[in-house]
Amino acid sequence: MIIQKEGFTFKFDPSKCEECGGKCCTGAPGYIWVSEEESEKIAHFLQMEPAEFRERYTRRAEGKISLIEYRLGVNNYACIFFDKKSGKCQIYPVRPIQCRTYPFWDIFKERWKEVARECPGILL
Ligand code: SF4
Repeated sequence: MIIQKEGFTFKFDPSKCEECGGKCCTGAPGYIWVSEEESEKIAHFLQMEPAEFRERYTRRAEGKISLIEYRLGVNNYACIFFDKKSGKCQIYPVRPIQCRTYPFWDIFKERWKEVARECPGILL
């Protein structure tokens, strides 16, 4: 099913996610924001105490909480929950809203060329 959203010049074909290998979960270092509620959901999914989850898998930045990343190479990092062997998210059913709403981020309304370079599911 092709997805389109008002205000965006591109459409998105989620069937491409299967073959992409996680380009939106890797790349230059960045933030994967999680709310308190999301972090509790993920902790529950992982059968961990929320405090332990936050300690092991998150960091504070700009007054918010972000998932941490691990290094893949030069200027190339992956979300801590990205499994590089399978190319899949290990917390997919409870992934944060930032991941669920990709590639329809406000920033890409103007900067559509950037997302089109990164994501093979973008249809122009
Ligand atoms: S939580 Fe999952 S979907 Fe989101 S960046 Fe991490 S690996 Fe990717």
